[in-house]
This record gives sequence, structure tokens and C-alpha cells, in this order.
Amino acid sequence: MSRLIVVSNRVNPPSEAGVGTSGGLAMALAAALREDRGIWFGWSGQTTESFTGQLSMQKVGGVTVALMDLDEQDRQEYYNGYANKTLWPLFHYRVDLAAYERSFSEGYQRVNVRFAETLLPLIEPDDLIWVQDYHLIPLASELRRRGVKNRIGFFLHIPWPARGIFTTLPRHEELARTLFDYDLVGFQTEDFRDAFADYVAHEGGGGVLGEEATAFGVTTRIGAFPIGIDYAEFVASIDSPQAEAAHARILASANGRKLIVGVDRLDYSKGLEDRFLAYEQFLADNPDQLERVFLLQIATPSRDEVDAYQDIRASLEAVTGRINGEYSTMDWVPIRYVHRSHRRDELAGVYRAADVGLVTPLRDGMNLVAKEFVAAQDGEDPGVLILSRFAGAADQMTEALIVNPFSREEVAEAIRQALAMPLEERVRRWRALSEGVRRDDVVAWREGFVARLEASRSDV
Ligand code: ADP
Repeated sequence: MSRLIVVSNRVNPPSEAGVGTSGGLAMALAAALREDRGIWFGWSGQTTESFTGQLSMQKVGGVTVALMDLDEQDRQEYYNGYANKTLWPLFHYRVDLAAYERSFSEGYQRVNVRFAETLLPLIEPDDLIWVQDYHLIPLASELRRRGVKNRIGFFLHIPWPARGIFTTLPRHEELARTLFDYDLVGFQTEDFRDAFADYVAHEGGGGVLGEEATAFGVTTRIGAFPIGIDYAEFVASIDSPQAEAAHARILASANGRKLIVGVDRLDYSKGLEDRFLAYEQFLADNPDQLERVFLLQIATPSRDEVDAYQDIRASLEAVTGRINGEYSTMDWVPIRYVHRSHRRDELAGVYRAADVGLVTPLRDGMNLVAKEFVAAQDGEDPGVLILSRFAGAADQMTEALIVNPFSREEVAEAIRQALAMPLEERVRRWRALSEGVRRDDVVAWREGFVARLEASRSDV
């Protein structure tokens, strides 16, 4: 079997502290890398005054990680710039927030060259190279330019946007063309794959036949590979002392009230303000529910060097203050808004205590919180998942209450319906959802992608 090299912007192997703190993706990739003597390569997150190109190799949790530092200009132009101020908003349909600055695209290109040149000496002839996400779209082109013939796959964790959106990107053809230097390009859903196919047909002078996409005179393979959570690990974490403590603490503080929970990175794509306004609508429409429910929103700080993230933080705090000011009583606050990070096992305990999981992103590649919420439920008395139709997860999780997150009325009505749902219906929906989350887990995702990449030839 070939050795696997995973390349991602940040390298995040499970720490020795283990399960409670590491993400499912990290766990799944780490498991594969341990089995195959693989390497995980990427940016250390550190910057130096000028770029050195030095590699630091270490073993973390049994995985060989290879890290390089970038320089401060790289952080600003590539990471905060093209990745997080241009591609992220654009791919999440926020053309209004997307910034197009020449220095950003130059920085993006430069860092992709740096990734290629630093990785090059580590590559052996039989290695499979698997590149993760929008930070590194041009990496295969830079590797091919340096003579790399290995099979190289790419997986996009975020949405591929509709053609009318993607074509607002200056020099979009150049970026799209670089995807054709991969042997396999994976998307989260068939919808995103189809959006790419549509672009290829109309802008690339090509088309898609089965899994082969041809454009700009070159062919690659494309497919949908929906990512999952590490189901076994997540379910096991529910029995941890941390999960049990968090669960007990929430139930004690709930004081018999029903709990609606939201857990998200603080990002404009997550639709938090719309969610709060929909919840306010629910309170206004259902006065009998006042003082009988509360919304706990846990929002992890994220990308706070980018202005748009500071703006969303301020507007969310204002909306929370206004709603709480209007509705709170002496012993009830309708929204508990917690702006900090938590251990994953604590989150498992919080999900389990909840009657409703409110997952209403305006756009999302997949959304793993929806899957974690389902995995954490007690099958005898499960909570209800409300899920945005614009999350990739909605394709698979059809037994959730699927809503349009832009419609306050619709979300408010779904909250009412979820809180009133009879046990028998909750159990029926949960069984179907949890079966899917268990089966289509992150290990299945990884194995599916790697097997497909192994089977692909670089000379399609
Ligand atoms: P994204 O990758 O855009 O942040 P996902 O829903 O796909 O969205 O994944 C988010 C991951 O981050 C989940 O595994 C979730 O448990 C974790 N997470 C979200 N909020 C927090 C928080 N406050 N503390 C710790 N982990 C969090």
C-alpha cells in the first residue's frame, strides 16, 4: 500500500491529551497516517521575519508531522487575505464581503509555491498526496511544475459556489484550471459537484461525463465524498467525566426549562443573527413558552484579525442584549450567549442535555455540529435536530426538520414543532439520522476518498 502524505494549511494531529480535545478530522487522518507511515505537512501557524523554508519534523501522537513557518506578509496576504477575505466569503455566497486585492492573490500564489518547494524533498515515488481545502487549490500545479508525477487528490471542505458567484472572482479561470492538475477532486455533496460541472461546461469549454471532468483541454476525476464525524470516538466521549459534568451542570441550571442549543464558530456563514431573530419571533408567536425554554449559543472565537469577524461579534452582542433586555424576567434569560471555546467532550454533554439542536447556517460545506448533536442523543428520549437546507449535511440528514434559515417564520415554526414533537416521532427520526451518521463517518469518508485516489491514474 502507498504511503499517504496529507497536506493542509494547519496541521492539527491529536495531542497526547487525546479524545476530549481533538477534532474528528484530526483523529481520522491521524489513524490513517499511523497505519501507513504517512506524513502530515503544513504551516506551523508561526511566522518568522523572513521565510526560511526550514522543515521541522516531529512525532505527535504517533504521527509524523512536518511543519514550516511562514512570514508575516504571508499571514496577512495568504491566510488573512486571499484565503479568509477572498475565497471564504465568496464560496459562502458573500460577494459583498469578498475583497479582491492584488497583494492577496500574489500572496496566495507565493505561499502555494512555498508549500510545493518545502514539500518536494519529502515525496517518494509511490506516495499518495492528499491536499485539503481552499487554501491550497493551486498546490498540485506547483508540484507538477516541479516534476511530481505522483497521484494527487484534493478535497474541498467548503461549498463550491454557483457559477454566477464563482465568476465574480477576478481570474477565476486560472484558479479553476489548477484543479485539473489533480487526479481526483472531491466535493462534500452532489450539489457542489454539479455546480463545478456547470462551471466547467459553461466557462471551461468542456463538460462532465460520469466522473470525468474535462475543461481547458485537460481531464480530471470529480466526485462527492461527504465528510462525517468520528462516530465511535464521539459516542465514547459521552461517558467521560467531562461530558457527564457538563450535562449535569446544564440540567441543574435549566431548572426544568427546555434547552435549545447552538454550537458554532463565530462566523457570518453560520447565520447566528438570523437564528437569534427567528428565536425572538418564536417567543413573540408563542407567549405560553416564555420562561419555559432558553437558547444556549456557544460561539467559538474565530479569525478575529479579520474585520468582518469583529463586526459580527459586535452585532451579535447587540442583538442578544436587545432580546434579553426585552424578554428577561427576574429568574429567566432567554438567550445565554457564550463566546468561548470548549472541550469536545464537554460539548457532547451539552448536546445530550438539549431538547433541540438549532443548526441554521446560511451556507456550509457540511456542518459537523449537526452530526455530533445526533450522535450525542439518548435514543430512548432524543432531542430534535433543526437543520438549514443550505448546510451540506441536509443532503444526507433528511429526517431532521429542514428549514430555510433566511425565513424567520419558518425557523420559528420549526422550533415550536420541535418542542412539541411526540416521543414516538422523535425516536423514529433520530433512529434514521443516527444510522446515517454512524455509517457515513469520517473513517468511511477517508477510506472512500483514498481508495478512489489510489484507483485513479495520473494519465486520464
Ligand atoms: P466549521 O468547520 O465551519 O467550523 P463544522 O460544524 O463543520 O464547522 O465543524 C465545527 C467543529 O468545531 C465541530 O466539531 C464542533 O464540535 C467544533 N466546535 C464548534 N464550536 C466549538 C466550541 N465553542 N468549542 C469547541 N469546539 C467547537
